[in-house]
Amino acid sequence: MRKKIVAGNWKMNKDYNDGLALFSEVINMVKDEVVGDLKVVVCAPFIHLNSLVGLGKGYDKVSVGAQNAHQEEAGAYTGEISTSMLKSINVEYVILGHSERRQYFGENNALLAKKTDAALENGLKPIFCIGETFSERESGEYFNVVKSQLAEATFHLSADGFSKLVIAYEPVWAIGTGVTASSAQAQEIHAFIRKEIAAKYGQEVADNTSILYGGSCNPKNAEELFSQADIDGGLIGGASLKSRDFVDIAK
Ligand code: PGA
Repeated sequence: MRKKIVAGNWKMNKDYNDGLALFSEVINMVKDEVVGDLKVVVCAPFIHLNSLVGLGKGYDKVSVGAQNAHQEEAGAYTGEISTSMLKSINVEYVILGHSERRQYFGENNALLAKKTDAALENGLKPIFCIGETFSERESGEYFNVVKSQLAEATFHLSADGFSKLVIAYEPVWAIGTGVTASSAQAQEIHAFIRKEIAAKYGQEVADNTSILYGGSCNPKNAEELFSQADIDGGLIGGASLKSRDFVDIAK
């Protein structure tokens, strides 16, 4: 059966010391308060990752992720970090295709296909993000947008490769805006995504794929969103910067 996952995306927030303090709080709260088979992932800036992996040792429920990685293994790419480097410090997850990367750093489906390959080759678990803009939602194009983001960046994978992905549906209009997709809107598209995965890889792979919702998730709306049949948890931005809110969402 597929995993329940709540992943925090700190984005470009928290200096080194504040990040370590936040992560320690999260670990302690998760240890004391979160029951059941749930994975809590913290996706932090690169400078935090090695220390967070160290702090998280021995806590099975908590894993560490990066927010991006380069598609090449090594070489003359000033300022970049490769998936093998992340693996070398035992980072487990990596967010790929976040809408902010698509919007501000020009990442497209072809590039994201390469990043996905690199992550899988190095044993990282991608949290692969898809989602439509407001105008794509308004025009009714959102099914096609989400379908092509998924197909163009991940459907070249074998069933075995695809099974290692976590999918995150994040409507761009809901990210950081305080506007959440309604649980019915989110369920509709999550069911559609699972149907597309089933059409490509079969029902078993689809049933085992965790599909997270992201976009203005908070402790008040998480329960209703996560209780939908095809929503397996969340990717949390703003609310992951406060340990209490983040762990309440996980609970
Ligand atoms: P938000 O961000 O929770 O602040 O809307 C979600 C995300 O970008 O992953």
